[in-house]
Amino acid sequence: MISYLKNIFTGFWSLLVGMAITLRYAVKKPVTLIYPKERLTIKRFKGPIAFTTDQKTGDHLCIACNACIKVCPSRCMSLEAQKSAVDGKRVLTDFKVNYMLCSLCSLCIDVCPTDALKHDDPNYDMVSLTQKDLVMDLLEPFRAKGTPLTKIPTIPAPKPAAAITPEPKGPASA
Ligand code: SF4
Ligand code: SF4
Repeated sequence: MISYLKNIFTGFWSLLVGMAITLRYAVKKPVTLIYPKERLTIKRFKGPIAFTTDQKTGDHLCIACNACIKVCPSRCMSLEAQKSAVDGKRVLTDFKVNYMLCSLCSLCIDVCPTDALKHDDPNYDMVSLTQKDLVMDLLEPFRAKGTPLTKIPTIPAPKPAAAITPEPKGPASA
């Protein structure tokens, strides 16, 4: 009989404790946010690789030296450059980063001689339904603005020599 009453008391007590905890959290400030309406400002967050902007010209600072391409351990960067028709210097014509492969190690930023690269603003919304969307074209914002470096005329690369096809052999003479 005593153990029966003890069990009832224990059950009732645990019910009271549970309700007290629930009530305490009901009046406390919530620790979660109603995302995406509310967002955290996250410090020490590495955003995806992006170009920095020259404050004077509004242009990127890449000189197409390939240093970042060589140092990248994930092999996720690629660039193309052509010769300027004005002064013969290399002109960047394409620069892509495959965000699916990037490990955000920052080596490309450290090695760049012109400080052309940075981690973009914290962007934890970066999701996609297709892999294609995660291959980022770093030149695109500058092309859209029509900055000076994107307007430099370039010398088109020479076309590869046409393959020489052997003459068809005629019928063997007797
Ligand atoms: S952060 Fe690292 S992995 Fe990502 S592109 Fe730069 S060098 Fe490559
Ligand atoms: S290291 Fe800097 S300047 Fe050189 S190709 Fe990379 S981004 Fe451009």
